[in-house]
Amino acid sequence: MDFAMDEKYEEHRKKVRDFAKKEFTEKIAEDCDTGEKYPEELRRKAFEAGLMDFTDPWKILITIEELCSVDESLGVAVTTPYFGAEVLMLFGSDYLKEKYLTPVNTGKAIMGLAVTEPGGGSDVAGIKTRATLEGDHYVLNGSKMFITNGSIANHFVLLARTSDEEKKHHGLSCFVVESTFEGFKANKLKGKMGVRATDTAELQLNNVKVPKENLIGEPGKGFYYIMTFFNISRIYVAAQGLGVAKGALNLSMSVAKNMGESYVSQESVQFEISEMATRFEAARLLTYKAASFLFNFNPNPTLTSMAKFYAAETAVFCTERSVEITGMNGVFGQLERFLRDAKILEIWEGTSEVEKLIIARNLIKEGGVS
Ligand SMILES: Cc1cc2nc3c(=O)[nH]c(=O)nc-3n(C[C@H](O)[C@H](O)[C@H](O)COP(=O)(O)OP(=O)(O)OC[C@H]3O[C@@H](n4cnc5c(N)ncnc54)[C@H](O)[C@@H]3O)c2cc1C
Repeated sequence: MDFAMDEKYEEHRKKVRDFAKKEFTEKIAEDCDTGEKYPEELRRKAFEAGLMDFTDPWKILITIEELCSVDESLGVAVTTPYFGAEVLMLFGSDYLKEKYLTPVNTGKAIMGLAVTEPGGGSDVAGIKTRATLEGDHYVLNGSKMFITNGSIANHFVLLARTSDEEKKHHGLSCFVVESTFEGFKANKLKGKMGVRATDTAELQLNNVKVPKENLIGEPGKGFYYIMTFFNISRIYVAAQGLGVAKGALNLSMSVAKNMGESYVSQESVQFEISEMATRFEAARLLTYKAASFLFNFNPNPTLTSMAKFYAAETAVFCTERSVEITGMNGVFGQLERFLRDAKILEIWEGTSEVEKLIIARNLIKEGGVS
């Protein structure tokens, strides 16, 4: 077992870190946070710098971790124009890949993934948006809630109900829906607690005509495609958590040091630093282990859910403790933003409760841990 990463990955880590330190200025971070502005200019710069290398998932993981260690909100904003791309990559026809994936991979378009509805996000099988086949197209009606890139994306991978099966999840299908299709409307949601540089919207679909060829894969397989996607994307959310935990810990240590030698040598402060650093290392081991299974085409959903749940919790823990040990200095600026931004990690791509249910159900089936 070798825990050292290949030299090429350390070089990539340094490249991303240098990019974030130079480009994620405090002014941009603050402006996007207070003004709830999407950093389009940064997105273009990050794309041009080649930070998201889809030929190597380890590089993507490292990119997300390092960008989020400087600012989670900006880090997520510039790494999610591709959100949902894996569904198209794995299950889309050549036609769909060429039409919808190529522009995203070349930085010309932004996409999103629309699953959650106003009635709830955890119960994916319970979604109500309906797609009815009429001749050479489907007609979509319904609404989606809390959709990242909702008001800026060119198109979405969208989950809708195509039939009423006894097992609800058997009646779902995925479609590509363009934001310019007639009857499609996005309402930007404002006032989020954190990740305010990311765009979030409610989507309304009112008799939206979607060409038949925009059905992804087979009808009735949508639930399976989305779960496959979550087993990939949860690794990247865990990477967001690692970045946030590391960023908050390192920043709070430097703030505490500046508060004086006598302050940082207090036992209570040192206990907090030790606990944050230990949890961070544990979260990173778990995330990299789950990632190595996935990236070697042998996904382990139990480990993936553990990594997502634990890295998210670690991010929240470290941001809270960072504010605590820096007192008044932590209540303003970067640490305060880290704390607000971290909470979403326990919610999106499956709440911590949902991850724990997956872990327990799998372990009960498998008879425990190996
Ligand atoms: C900023 C932001 C961006 C988002 N981006 C996207 C996006 O791009 N695409 C998308 O599709 N969705 C997106 N979401 C939605 C997100 O995935 C959902 O918020 C999440 O899945 C939880 O769903 P919910 O908020 O409807 O909560 P609910 O599912 O209603 O859950 C409420 C609470 O009940 C708990 N709970 C639910 N079911 C169970 C159960 N069976 N057992 C125990 N506890 C349970 C949950 O853990 C939670 O604490 C985003 C959300 C936010 C806030």
